[in-house]
Amino acid sequence: PRYLYSFRPGHSDATHPTAALLGGKGCALATMSQMSLPVPPGFILSTSLCARLTSSSSSNSSSTTATPILFPDSLTSQIETALAALSDSVGRVFGSATNPLLLSVRSGAPVSMPGMMDTVLNLGLNDKTVEALAKQTDNAIFAYDSYRRFLSMYANVVLSLPNALFEKSLSDMKSQYDCATDADLPLKALKQLVNKFKHHILSETGIPFEQDVFVQLRNTIAAVFQSWQNPRAQTYRAINHIPMSLGTAVVVQAMVFGNSGPTSATGVFFSRDPSTGVNKLYGEFLTNAQGEDVVAGIRTPQPIVRVTNVEGLSKKNSMQEVMPDVYKQVVDVSNLLEQHFKDVQDVEFTVEKGTLYILQTRAAKRTALAAVRSAVEMEGEGLISKDEALKRVDPKSLRQLLHPTLDSDVERDVVATGLPASPGAASGVVALSCNSAEFFAQQGLDVILCREETSPEDVAGMHISKGIVTARGGMTSHAAVVARGMGRACITGVSSMTIDEEKGVVKLDENVSVKEGDCVTIDGATGQVMLGKLETKPAQMCEEFKTLMQWADQRRDMTVLANAETPEDVRRALSLGAEGVGLCRTEHMFFDADRIVAVRQMILAEDNEVRTDALNKLLPMQRQDFTEILEVMQGRPVTIRLLDPPLHEFLPHEQHEFEAVARSAGVSVDVLKARADASREANPMLGLRGCRVGIVYPEIYRMQTQAIVLAAVDVARKSDKVVCVHVMVPFVSSVDELEIVRREIDNVASTILSSSENEEVAHLVQYTVGTMIELPRAALTAGEIARQASFFSFGTNDLTQTTLGMSRDDAGSFLQNYLKSGVIDRDPFVSLDIEGVGMLVELAAKEGRKTRKDLKLCLCGEQGADKDTVVFAQKIGLDAVSCSPFFVPVARLAAAQAAI
Ligand code: PEP
Ligand code: MG
Repeated sequence: PRYLYSFRPGHSDATHPTAALLGGKGCALATMSQMSLPVPPGFILSTSLCARLTSSSSSNSSSTTATPILFPDSLTSQIETALAALSDSVGRVFGSATNPLLLSVRSGAPVSMPGMMDTVLNLGLNDKTVEALAKQTDNAIFAYDSYRRFLSMYANVVLSLPNALFEKSLSDMKSQYDCATDADLPLKALKQLVNKFKHHILSETGIPFEQDVFVQLRNTIAAVFQSWQNPRAQTYRAINHIPMSLGTAVVVQAMVFGNSGPTSATGVFFSRDPSTGVNKLYGEFLTNAQGEDVVAGIRTPQPIVRVTNVEGLSKKNSMQEVMPDVYKQVVDVSNLLEQHFKDVQDVEFTVEKGTLYILQTRAAKRTALAAVRSAVEMEGEGLISKDEALKRVDPKSLRQLLHPTLDSDVERDVVATGLPASPGAASGVVALSCNSAEFFAQQGLDVILCREETSPEDVAGMHISKGIVTARGGMTSHAAVVARGMGRACITGVSSMTIDEEKGVVKLDENVSVKEGDCVTIDGATGQVMLGKLETKPAQMCEEFKTLMQWADQRRDMTVLANAETPEDVRRALSLGAEGVGLCRTEHMFFDADRIVAVRQMILAEDNEVRTDALNKLLPMQRQDFTEILEVMQGRPVTIRLLDPPLHEFLPHEQHEFEAVARSAGVSVDVLKARADASREANPMLGLRGCRVGIVYPEIYRMQTQAIVLAAVDVARKSDKVVCVHVMVPFVSSVDELEIVRREIDNVASTILSSSENEEVAHLVQYTVGTMIELPRAALTAGEIARQASFFSFGTNDLTQTTLGMSRDDAGSFLQNYLKSGVIDRDPFVSLDIEGVGMLVELAAKEGRKTRKDLKLCLCGEQGADKDTVVFAQKIGLDAVSCSPFFVPVARLAAAQAAI
């Protein structure tokens, strides 16, 4: 079988390159070769090898010996043939002691996983070839600099030795020779370093550094494939739901050298600004540096495009000024790549003695703001269709746009400043390591993770943090890329900051220090760090966001409603595009201080008289609640759910609470306490809740129906417009329950609507009765239930809890474990369990519509804005989803994508 695909400018073995086979990097290199762009030639080992090579070696594949790794037979010969062709095309020979070819070996999965897997550069150097390289380039410093880099990468990736060992020697050497940067090290120091590194390898592994370049290559290929299985790659896959079965490809390419002198450089550019989406090339580079230096944030890089400071003066260090010819080529390549891939590109390049080489291009990770803006603008430029623009934005990421920012009126005492790497304001306690971030997060605290620089090991810690601050690195450093992808606020390159992890202290600048656990605020949009917690204000939506949302609304079939119960939430939902209220949880209205006493009196009442007294107190309050909501919604549909509390939750606990109820009800505290004891339940979530309350105490639902219909009448009279209310009965498991409750509702409603004082407005009140489907029995008997319901709303929170037998309140304790160990790949309370709970929903929808063709169907559990859940809802023909106000835009976009 074919494992290997060669490429060079103007040619690719793979005629129709795909990321599935060649990995994202390999696919892009093959495509750029076909476009005749200046890529260094090389070959790709396909993803199909990954499973074979990783399963055939043990978890610690990185053989410290030269034991042959089990390569499929034909692979070795395919590599040899490809190497010969590669030698021909660059005019150098792998392993030659006069004219050596050096290689880079890089991983590249079908889905971008920036920095998660391994790379080895300068492969093919040994004691002989380094001398040849020195002679050939007339640059011994460059040759030995490359050799020491190769030694440490090989030791780390192939031999699994810790990086720290080599970094320590490097920094010792820099102080010994009094050098500020790596690039300043003299030849003598580099040679000493090479010896030291070889010595580390021998003393740590017991085996001398491998001088045979073919064995080097073989071991490195195996190790880079194996890095698909390293813990940080696993974490990244778990967070991003990337299946392990995809595997990585490995790209072997002729080296080009960004570290071969002052006219050489390495860098990264984005075809548009990945932070704001502005259509302007954005990037950074480092002269006389190699590969990973920019991405890893080792030195703070220079800008590609000229930047001017406040006085309008340029610092004269941009590529535009320093390498104007290369700059022009960069701009051309950027345009060509965007035209071809029709998306914002993130490009790695190297300049070798003034010649530009493109090493990689991929769709740029970007903030939600940048995603929205570039998608809408690309549609305007005729690059992509509206549908494509809608697909470009991850619905979930829209939450970032709704994130709070710091109020510009609030005084800011800025103690440190860095690069504004990812927008959003965040306050939290300082954590200096991922472990302490996790510790603080477990206490329910918001965390700001402060690091020298972040490495891929930090992904898990970044994920649980609200914001990230690093001392080193630029806008394209690992921290910045990952934070933008995750939607976390992030500031990089805070050069005044120093961190003492051992003492748990961060010096933000000369005079200001904070300890781990102290609170700080960061503004990812400006790069400012402030002490303490600052007030934030709600997010502002940009024009492009509004445009995209309009397109989404035109495209989607499903209605998007909100779960909201206060006039404030309802107003917010409306402003975020909700078309009505899909779920008004009336029990949430009962917690307010002014009514909790009456609610408790209602629950604990021993006789009808006391209960009626309590209900009489509650009626006007509920009527007022509903009136406000109906007024805000101006005729849009409002679904009000009758009381569904675990009654238990409302019971008084404290003496003074009992006393207040006793006063209000006119009974003794002792009697109340006895009633409360009798009402406590071991399993309140499965106890006296939902329609069971309505059946046991019919006067409660009667009062609520009265309040709803009276409010509807009030609003209809005042507005002279149609008012649309849907009364929803919760926690039904049989049609008989619904029938009993419905009879009560209809009685109350018709009494009010047929009374003579309401005669002239009754026709304006549209009211229907429906039910939640949130218990398995309800789903299974939905055909029956539909006889009594004009709509169903799927309560997938309870339906998930009762179908999986997992408590929605307590499942967190083991769900984390399940997610980490891969027992499940999604939290079923976040994304619907389609194979299980989804089956019940689908069945109920079908059976319900068999009974009643025009049965309206909605889904109102917390999964209502989750993309996959919405796609499923569309597929099975639901009419609407309902979700909390901030998720409404998310659901609108998800519904549009579901319709495409
Ligand atoms: C549900 O169960 O999915 C639902 C929406 O109702 P609640 O969360 O109030 O139980
Ligand atoms: Mg429920």
